[in-house]
Amino acid sequence: MTEPQLIQYEAKQHQLPQQEIAGHAKKIIHLLNQAGYEAYLVGGAVRDLLLGLHPKDFDIATDATPEEIKTVFRNKCRIIGRRFRLAHVYMGQTVYEIATFRGGSSGDMLIKKGQIIRDNVFGTIEEDALRRDFTCNALYYNIATDTILDYAGGVGDIRQGHLKLIGLPDNRFIEDPVRMLRAVRFHAKLGLNLGDDLKQSIIKNRNSLKNVPTARLFDEAVKLFHCGNMLHAFDTLMELNLFDILFPAATKIAHANDDLKSLLYQAFKNTDSRLKNGQSVTPVFLTACVLWLEFLPAYRHVLSQGKNAHDALHQATTLVMEQQRPHLAIPKALQNGIRQMWLLQLRFKKMYGKPVFSTLHHPRFRAAYDFLLLRAKIKPELDSQEEFWTNIQNMPPDAIKSMVYGKRVKRKKVSTEL
Ligand code: ATP
Ligand code: MG
Repeated sequence: MTEPQLIQYEAKQHQLPQQEIAGHAKKIIHLLNQAGYEAYLVGGAVRDLLLGLHPKDFDIATDATPEEIKTVFRNKCRIIGRRFRLAHVYMGQTVYEIATFRGGSSGDMLIKKGQIIRDNVFGTIEEDALRRDFTCNALYYNIATDTILDYAGGVGDIRQGHLKLIGLPDNRFIEDPVRMLRAVRFHAKLGLNLGDDLKQSIIKNRNSLKNVPTARLFDEAVKLFHCGNMLHAFDTLMELNLFDILFPAATKIAHANDDLKSLLYQAFKNTDSRLKNGQSVTPVFLTACVLWLEFLPAYRHVLSQGKNAHDALHQATTLVMEQQRPHLAIPKALQNGIRQMWLLQLRFKKMYGKPVFSTLHHPRFRAAYDFLLLRAKIKPELDSQEEFWTNIQNMPPDAIKSMVYGKRVKRKKVSTEL
């Protein structure tokens, strides 16, 4: 790795808004300094502040060991992690992660087929900076002096709008393939450009993502889903053939079916705007939307074998989950949520009698209803369902009763079509 070239940005040379830093993070850094340790705000928080965004958390890096951190914060501090110990400090309602500078030379790491399996050696601040992934993620902010320490040229790259890896892309991606997904996420979320060399390296190394534990891939997929600009992240993932690694069957279908691809775009747009408006999101929703692409043909296939709609739905869901398992580990609880969301698509077809109430009061009604709205955009036959389930939410209970039990309601058999 190249020799670190430290650039220091003094107060007048940068525009990091110090008032945006959480008071508790400042206090933690101050207390560590007072005890004689170096401590900096680091990583995503410094990057986001320089870009004018609100950091979602404030991580701290220090030369104090976890035990030394514990003596400063006593019962407010817990040491976590076995391989690499970190300190968690509890202040107010928030947990702050305080990491001791980590060494990064390959000799200290356990490496298998070029991938880092474990690295757990303390190091200097320079080493700590160079083992990070992107230059914009390797910035250290000294609150007391209002100075940014930049060991990898991150400030310059941010100013020029580039997302750059520290070191050679091929090496850094092979070392930890998840960085390819992180690259797409930061590109979409921060609007920083991926250079041609970085893109070429992703295309070349994409298959090494198949060696990453599928539970970690699912976590990354969710971070992408909720990055705030999944609409653009999706295009980039498709361009770089990465979506295919996460969801191979759905990707094939998206390439072949424009309607279903546009359903995905609608779903991503919906989640992006919920996040922009501060509304809650759940990984169940987008995972269900993406897998719907492969669910539909599976459902139709099972139906064609003579199963009833309800059984076909369950069987097709199980099939999709099994098909997905080698690529991405979707937690069981989420799988159940997805199954419920799909089951409700079938239940929405019953717009009379008692089932209406159980549908309306189902815990997954909200997500399932939002999904129905998206489906209706590509399938006009769903307009009557959309109208029914939209209106019913604003009706008083008595009016609902007379509507769904009334003499004039159509009780004709509902089709199995989804
Ligand atoms: P955000 O929290 O907004 O997703 P972040 O940059 O804070 O972004 P984290 O996953 O919280 O991302 O990681 C914190 C820091 O740890 C990063 O800024 C980076 O410096 C370092 N880091 C995280 N993951 C890796 C990785 N796979 N390889 C190298 N460094 C990493
Ligand atoms: Mg972070």
